[in-house]
Amino acid sequence: MSNFIKLLPDSVANQIAAGEVIQRPASAVKELLENAVDAGATEIDLVIKDAGKTLIQVIDNGCGMSAMDARMCFERHATSKISQADDLFAIRTMGFRGEALASIAAIAQVEMKTRPAEDELGTCLKIEGSKVISQDPCQCSTGTSILVKNLFFNVPARRNFLKSNTAETRHIIEEFIRVALMHPTIAFSMIHNGKTVFKLAKGGLKARIVGLFGNNYDKKLLPVEQKTEMLTIKGFIGKPEFAKKTRGEQYFFVNKRFIKHPYLNHAVLNAYAELIPADSYPSYFLNIDIDPKEIDINIHPTKTEINFRDSKYVYAVMQAAVKKSIGQYSLTPTIDFDVDPSIEMALGSQPKEGLEAPKVNINPDYNPFEKKTGAASHQQKKENLNWQEIYKHHQTGEETKEITETGQQIEMEAEQQRSSSFFQIQNTFIASNVRSGLMVIDQQRAHQRILYEYYLKKIKESPQNSQQMLFPQNLRLSPGDAEIIRGLKDELKKLGYMLEPLGKNGFVINGIPADLEESNSVAVLERIIENHKKHLKDLNYDKSVNLARSMAVNLAIKPGTKLREEEMAELFDSLFACEAPETGIDGKRVLAIIPLSDIERYINEKKI
Ligand code: ADP
Ligand code: MG
Repeated sequence: MSNFIKLLPDSVANQIAAGEVIQRPASAVKELLENAVDAGATEIDLVIKDAGKTLIQVIDNGCGMSAMDARMCFERHATSKISQADDLFAIRTMGFRGEALASIAAIAQVEMKTRPAEDELGTCLKIEGSKVISQDPCQCSTGTSILVKNLFFNVPARRNFLKSNTAETRHIIEEFIRVALMHPTIAFSMIHNGKTVFKLAKGGLKARIVGLFGNNYDKKLLPVEQKTEMLTIKGFIGKPEFAKKTRGEQYFFVNKRFIKHPYLNHAVLNAYAELIPADSYPSYFLNIDIDPKEIDINIHPTKTEINFRDSKYVYAVMQAAVKKSIGQYSLTPTIDFDVDPSIEMALGSQPKEGLEAPKVNINPDYNPFEKKTGAASHQQKKENLNWQEIYKHHQTGEETKEITETGQQIEMEAEQQRSSSFFQIQNTFIASNVRSGLMVIDQQRAHQRILYEYYLKKIKESPQNSQQMLFPQNLRLSPGDAEIIRGLKDELKKLGYMLEPLGKNGFVINGIPADLEESNSVAVLERIIENHKKHLKDLNYDKSVNLARSMAVNLAIKPGTKLREEEMAELFDSLFACEAPETGIDGKRVLAIIPLSDIERYINEKKI
């Protein structure tokens, strides 16, 4: 019998291995940036075209490579960073696997120019699909420049699998941030399609955070520093009052390497404890400096998880460090989280302080229960309860049915309700008597549903109902956020936002949706970005739906908002004019009817 087993040619083996290391342009960017950092560069420039699909170039002024090394570095398992197994436990460099360049060269057309400071001439090497095309001496500056063209040119399946340019650019920006953040002493720049996305000067960590995430971070940060025998935690956290509704900027690093660590994340959240609302997330940018012996770096090239030998200890130190920082710096302990600025614009006619409690108009002939549930002093009205009426109500055969909340039935009930009245329960639910019992509407979900349908229609129909801003406002964003706004340009326009680009990552807001209040125009846009990030990964992601949802979530009244009778009536009417009044945009119920029979059963239970 003949033998079938053969060794794969190197180029094929490399291509297979490459799939592990380089999954998208952003993975190549990460590897190249890390190599430049490891090479001791003080200046690193990243240039990309078409989200890295056609070109990625990283230029550094690091140590460069000799002609021999220039050839060697593209071999698999070729690395200058470790030489024996033990070194794995003493890694201080970003790379160590010796796989990145081999992988990139297997699936792209690569051109490298490199020169160590001591050599007069450098080396220019061209390599394509693992094949060396040419290697020549050349004139070039100290350091290394690697040009990666047409990534996945020979792996069409991979190429087709790539996401939109916007999505791939976001991934690249994220990798750039992860490397640039912890190396503030290195100057970084990023240019995409000829436009500068980042230009970061050398400086401290705080300046770097501001450079990456925008000027407004300057006032949002608290320093953290905690030294113990085993480790040092250093970095910045966001002040509690700036916690966001999405995870946003949360960065852990170990020895300057970005990691994900849910357990440590928990430690940080715990330290914020009661200081931020349950559905908010604090920002943090924290590095743990620790003896590499104490950690187990994940050997998988793209994984960001690591294990600590004593994770409980790290947890405790982390929590204490963050707590201390908050304790020392948060000078304003009385943060009122209940007041959400977006509430103010929710109804346009926001009730002012000192407003009377909503009045409850009672129709005792119809259903005297209302007196018990109403906000009006039921003590005083107790005597007036018309017990006979309840009795009569039953005896006349008008018995209440168990309500199955079919749409028709609810609409029927709603129809009848209009002549009746509304009252609030705990400023959170709108309650109202209906024939079969008590209808309870979640005010926030109801308003979200109304706004959602309203804005979706607006975006789809495209009338531009915009109001000119009296004083156009400037909006400065981080590059990632600016990218999101650019991606949503058309939809935002249909909503009525008139935005003009201003500089790299800024916009001038010239007009806003006609139904927004001017003072909140920026806040709402920021919230749109946050919401957008949160849902970006949803499978059936649809820009319009998501934007409408964003607007709805942002602008809907929140639990705890006191409503006037007219407002409740208006909400009620608008809700039932919706296409799906019963379903919240989160899929939960907007309303429920508590059948009278249930109330009776409850009230008739023996006390003991
Ligand atoms: P690793 O970084 O894991 O060692 P790579 O494949 O990324 O593996 O790189 C292989 C080797 O090439 C590195 O160990 C380093 O010696 C050299 N190298 C790569 N990039 C650069 C660079 N920008 N400047 C100097 N040397 C580099
Ligand atoms: Mg490397």
